Amino acid sequence: MSMFDLSGRVAVITGGNGGIGFAIAEALARQGCAVSIWGRSAEKNAAAAASLSATDARVHTLVCDVSQRDQAEKATADTLEAFGRIDGCFANAGIGGGGRTPFVERTGEDWRQLFGVNLDGVVHTLQPIVRHMVKRAADGDAFGRIVATSSMASLFGTARNEHYAAAKAGLNALMKALAVEHARLGITANAILPGWIETDMTAGLQGNDKFMNAVMPRIPVRRFGNPGDFSGIAVYLMSAASSYHTGDCIVIDGGYSAF
Ligand code: NAP
Repeated sequence: MSMFDLSGRVAVITGGNGGIGFAIAEALARQGCAVSIWGRSAEKNAAAAASLSATDARVHTLVCDVSQRDQAEKATADTLEAFGRIDGCFANAGIGGGGRTPFVERTGEDWRQLFGVNLDGVVHTLQPIVRHMVKRAADGDAFGRIVATSSMASLFGTARNEHYAAAKAGLNALMKALAVEHARLGITANAILPGWIETDMTAGLQGNDKFMNAVMPRIPVRRFGNPGDFSGIAVYLMSAASSYHTGDCIVIDGGYSAF
């Protein structure tokens, strides 16, 4: 287990107060990593922190809307003040695309709002954090892990969700570029591409029999994923075990994209 011991490490998880992000935060905390959870809702943040109290890890939460650059910069400064360092960042916060509006009816405002959270929000989060990691490398303490939660939608034709698919495809390219730029500083950059996962984001779909009957036979594992299915990849990517693994788009979808 020592390969996955995260004692002394500090990670930021945006959108860490629920769904996939909470499972990532919990998995890291169980390995001894201090976690800083950023989300818009103070209530959800408090509930997440309470749930993590049994892990003995240091937990910190911040109200932050990642679509606002100044809020992400302030949250980075506040995390550094609380923990003194940031070793990893899971830029996971995101909103769904709805999947109902035809492309030709999509408003510019709708398009910008989704990009503001799902793509710009990741840049707002990563820029100040990578700046800190680059400085640390220059000071002789080279280590960084940056991970974005993308989506299988970045690979598939997702009708009526072009804004969501395009923003997630942008994340895949962003993380590959960041991987190449920062590899020599000990900073790895990867994207995780979830398939269909049981969270608040998909609650409407899970109650839609027509949708479920169409999708379930196409998932070889024959179930939606659950947030805990991301625990292992989160610990691995945060750990020293993944030092030579960078620039990847890691699909976790129960085999959906292979079928
Ligand atoms: P979720 O349960 O709805 O969680 C979304 C999280 O993002 C919440 O913690 C939410 O917290 C936070 N968030 C949303 N907008 C934010 C903003 N502007 N600033 C800061 N935090 C924000 O959904 P999820 O399924 O776990 O989604 C997590 C990630 O996985 C997303 O990027 C999503 O696109 C991706 N994903 C999900 C699936 C799936 O099937 N569920 C599939 C592929 C990819 P607050 O409400 O407190 O802000």
